[in-house]
Order: sequence, then structure tokens, then C-alpha cells
Amino acid sequence: MSDKDYYQVLGVERNSTEADIKKAYRKLAIKFHPDKNPGDSESEEKFKEISAAFEILKDPDKRRKYDQYGHDAFRGGPSGGQGVDPFDLFRDAFGGGSGGGNSGFGSIFEDFFGGGNSASANEGTRGSDLRVSVDISLEQAAKGVEKEIKYQHHATCKECTGSGATSGSGKSMCSTCGGIGQVASNQGFISIRRTCPACRGSGVTIENPCQACRGDGRIKSPDKVKVNIPPGVSDGNRLCSRGRGDAGSMGGPAGDLYVDVRIKEHPKFDRDDDDLFHDLLIPFTLATLGGVAQVPTLEGKVSLKIPGGTQANKTFRIKDKGMPNLRSPSRKGDLYARIIIHVPQKLTKLQREKLVDFAKASGEEDLQADEGFLEKAKRLFD
Ligand SMILES: [Zn+2]
Ligand SMILES: [Zn+2]
Repeated sequence: MSDKDYYQVLGVERNSTEADIKKAYRKLAIKFHPDKNPGDSESEEKFKEISAAFEILKDPDKRRKYDQYGHDAFRGGPSGGQGVDPFDLFRDAFGGGSGGGNSGFGSIFEDFFGGGNSASANEGTRGSDLRVSVDISLEQAAKGVEKEIKYQHHATCKECTGSGATSGSGKSMCSTCGGIGQVASNQGFISIRRTCPACRGSGVTIENPCQACRGDGRIKSPDKVKVNIPPGVSDGNRLCSRGRGDAGSMGGPAGDLYVDVRIKEHPKFDRDDDDLFHDLLIPFTLATLGGVAQVPTLEGKVSLKIPGGTQANKTFRIKDKGMPNLRSPSRKGDLYARIIIHVPQKLTKLQREKLVDFAKASGEEDLQADEGFLEKAKRLFD
């Protein structure tokens, strides 16, 4: 850091009031804030200077020391009062939200300058979104279910409450980037900014990093979350649990947890949107004579009237026995029962006689002609 006179840096008199100093700082901070001057390393430098100056002059104690000893009062060591965090300062000076992740100067700048997406230090880095999947049954999909999901994520370190520093340990401005969180390198006419490698974009250096999280402020740990899976959910639907992904670093907001719903195959039902399909196996006699069949549904069996002479593949619609609609669960799909006719593979002697009689009565001459062959074949295998 330069040793420029702090009063000069802020353009105020040595006997200025606190209010004057704050006013001067605010004016300059807006002018030179890196967000307003992307890629301009001179402005960055200036911003650092005014931050450093304001940090000292806004505090009556520090100001007194500075007046007495000059820059020497603040040299070296964590106790030297070098806890300059330009962006915290900036937030303070503008009455921005404290510690609330993205509630800081980004939004202030949006207010002042009409937006613009800027990645900056000390806004913190948003935690990663995570994805997990949960398997449920079709019955659970129909009724809705609360599921507890166990997963791993980077959670805020409890030891240091996310600060990354052991308690009592201060933070100082990162000397590599001067608290900006980014470093610029000039290549010809182009100035390229990249995340500061020393502080990983936070703009601060932690003097005594927390042992538990090694200064990251986050620890990989197991967690669980309850998700309410709504009735009518479909395979592949994705639910979002806000803020349950990885914790943000340096006060950044947490990521989200996405939960992919997977519905296990059901032995009895196929699904198409809200409708269910079931292959209903009935004896050929029932198909021929007519009667009543029992059809399984997700809520027990229902009786289905089978008219005499029902053909294979005939499909019956059973109203409102499908899945609830995801958007309006009181509305339900239908259940379609497709007839599969069961042809017996083994007959008793009596059954055979009756069926032969039936065939004769039906005048099925061809079938009678084949009877001799069938009888012989049967003897061969008996
Ligand atoms: Zn840095
Ligand atoms: Zn920690």
C-alpha cells in the first residue's frame, strides 16, 4: 500500500468531521468501485487507497493514532489495525445488509447504476448446486410422500461459523490483490482480470485459519433434508430445495439442492401422464360368457363387468382410477384395463370332453378332424 496521506486521499481537511469523511468516501467509492470500472487497474488502486484511508479515518481511535504517528501506527502484524475489507467498508458506508451474502454492494450498485452483472470479491462465492435422486413407488407418487434424503455437501464450518478464521483471529486485506479479489494482468492493450490466486477471490487473508476447515469456512459433511414429493409427480420430475446445496464461501449464498424423482417400475401398471394401464388376464370362459372381473387399482380392487363375447385386447376405461394430476390433484387420470385372454395349457379329461363337445356343437369340423392327431400326441407325452 502507498503511504499517501489519508486525508489527501479522501480529499478532506485534517479537521473534517466524521460525517464529512464519510461523505467524501462515499463519493469516491462509487466513482472508483471496481464494478463501475471493470478492468481498470488504476481505479482499483484508487479504490484500495480510499478504502484504506476511510478504514482509519472513520474510526476516532485509529484516526487519533494516525494523526499522532502517521502510517507507522498501522504497520505490521494483526494488531496493527489492518483489518481492511474494502467491500465490508463499502457496505457499511452505504448501510447495506450485513453478512447476508448477496445483499451487499452488488445491489447497491444496481440501485445506483441500473444493474450490470458483476462478479466481485467479498460478495462471496455462491455455493454449488447439488443433485441427488430419490426413488419412490408408484403408490407414493400417487399419494405424495415426504422423504428424508441423506446427502453430502459442503456445510458452513461450525468451528468458525464460516469465517474460516479461528475465533479472535483477524482478517486482513489480501496483499496480492489489495482486497479486490481479482488481479489484472496486462497483455498488450487488453487487461485481463482473474480471481486472485492468493485469497481465491475473497479479498482477505485470514491470519489464523480455522483448523477444522483450513480456512475455507466450509466442511464436507453429511446432511439430511426432508422433501415433500407432491401427489402426481412423474418420473424425472425435479424438485428444488433452496439453499440446501453447498454453503457459499465468504458470506456467499448457499447453492440449491435439486432432487430428481425416480419412480420404480410397477409390476401391474404402466403409466402415461395421469393414466394407468393394466393388462387384465381373464379366463376365456369369462370372456366368452361374460361376468365380473376384479381389476387391481392403486387403492385396492374394483369390479369390472365383462360383457359376453369380449375379445382379446379390448380395453375398458375405469374412470378416475389413474394418477392424480400434479397441478390439480383432485383431478385424476383413468385406469385402462386391456383384456388378455387366458388360454389354459393343461386340461383335465372332463374339461377336454366338454370342450370337444363344445367344438362339435359349434360345428367345427376341422377341429374334430384334428382330434385323432391330438390324442396320439397326448399319448406320446403321457
Ligand atoms: Zn487476493
Ligand atoms: Zn472453520
